[in-house]
Amino acid sequence: MKILLVNPPNSGRSIPEERYGIDSIKQIFRGEPLALEVLAANLDGFATAICDLKATPDTFSRDLAAFRPDIVAITGVTCEANTVLALARKAKDQGAATVIGGIHASNDPGFFNRAEIDYVIVGLGRASLRELVDNLVRGKRTLPDGVARTSPGDELIFTPRRFTAIDAGGMTAPAYHLVARHRPLYRLERLGLDMGFVVSAYGCPFSCDFCCISGLTSGAYLTVPVESVIRDISLLPTPVIRLLDANTFGNPEHAAQLCQAIIAAGIKKKFLADIRSDTVVNHPDLMRNWHKAGLKAVIIGFEEIDDRRLEGFNKKNRAAINTEAIAVLHDIGITIIGDFIINPDYEEDDFARLGAYISDNRIDLPMITVLTPLPGTAMHKKMKERIIIDDLDFYTLTNAVLPTSLPEEKFYRLYAELMREGHKNAKL
Ligand code: SF4
Repeated sequence: MKILLVNPPNSGRSIPEERYGIDSIKQIFRGEPLALEVLAANLDGFATAICDLKATPDTFSRDLAAFRPDIVAITGVTCEANTVLALARKAKDQGAATVIGGIHASNDPGFFNRAEIDYVIVGLGRASLRELVDNLVRGKRTLPDGVARTSPGDELIFTPRRFTAIDAGGMTAPAYHLVARHRPLYRLERLGLDMGFVVSAYGCPFSCDFCCISGLTSGAYLTVPVESVIRDISLLPTPVIRLLDANTFGNPEHAAQLCQAIIAAGIKKKFLADIRSDTVVNHPDLMRNWHKAGLKAVIIGFEEIDDRRLEGFNKKNRAAINTEAIAVLHDIGITIIGDFIINPDYEEDDFARLGAYISDNRIDLPMITVLTPLPGTAMHKKMKERIIIDDLDFYTLTNAVLPTSLPEEKFYRLYAELMREGHKNAKL
């Protein structure tokens, strides 16, 4: 049995670029396909390869022909969903069974209930994919929890999975060697950083309305054993490690143990990790210790700058806490990468207020997206009647799929200006 794991190419369309010639907003990310490396690590005994189309966009047909897989398993976020379908069609034409997982499959599995897809994995796939492959090899018709067999025209039926430590894994290291040939490409070009990815936790204890993370674990927060995280960090040759968790500090005790273990192991690397502002404020000593362990920068979802809008997101946080966290991090010397969400209902003064906030608070690298109700999220349920663009190619988080209050071109010009100003002195 041969299994090809596929990372789709950077996908999606840009309204500001297509309609107004504004090409500065589109964001291109290229990092190693950690989720696929984790899946591959749990497929021992099978011939497994990774086709990373973000690194080499045009190699899918070549890899299909050369590897001749029995199973093609494709991951994807929402703006990649249509691309995933196209890849699945090619794989099916070659006679492979097709399995789809990842963020979009976990939040909106019904989207993939189509002829070119055989199975949909809902939630973390490490254990589910292994169980599915084992069943197929043994000729068993039964499906593991969290896996659906497609049946176009009918409702997609599956038994929801109860996610546990088995799904979080850590027993085996991610199969980093399967993409070793691409490693020189896994860098943040703009900042000149070579970066490797490690996971220390899955899911998040919170449930912000716009966020697609809870679909991966059904709301559970699962940590990876500290010794496994240390092993994975040590395996990577890169000077910078991005802890690719939605919330690295969701269990402060685990985060403290990991910090101590990094120091004890004598690891001298720089780390980037995601944290909530209230965790910074409630655990400033943890931040200081992590800084000593190499924490260079944190990514914080500030999202909005006023309490009314934060409440609307079910963020369970306040603007004053955001400001307090910024002061703590500046005091320690940790770089702040701030996530902000602009609402399509923004007026000119909303853009101006956000621009002033970013500059006054010295946010080192603002990451600004447009509020997008992703299918499967609580926000999508609340807003679906107002959505004017359903084509998932536009769900890149940089397009307004809800009507803008300002004339559309004005909205995108102000958005581009905000990005330009915010990134003018960007540093890590
Ligand atoms: S705190 Fe962050 S990761 Fe957690 S639900 Fe909210 S946005 Fe998602």
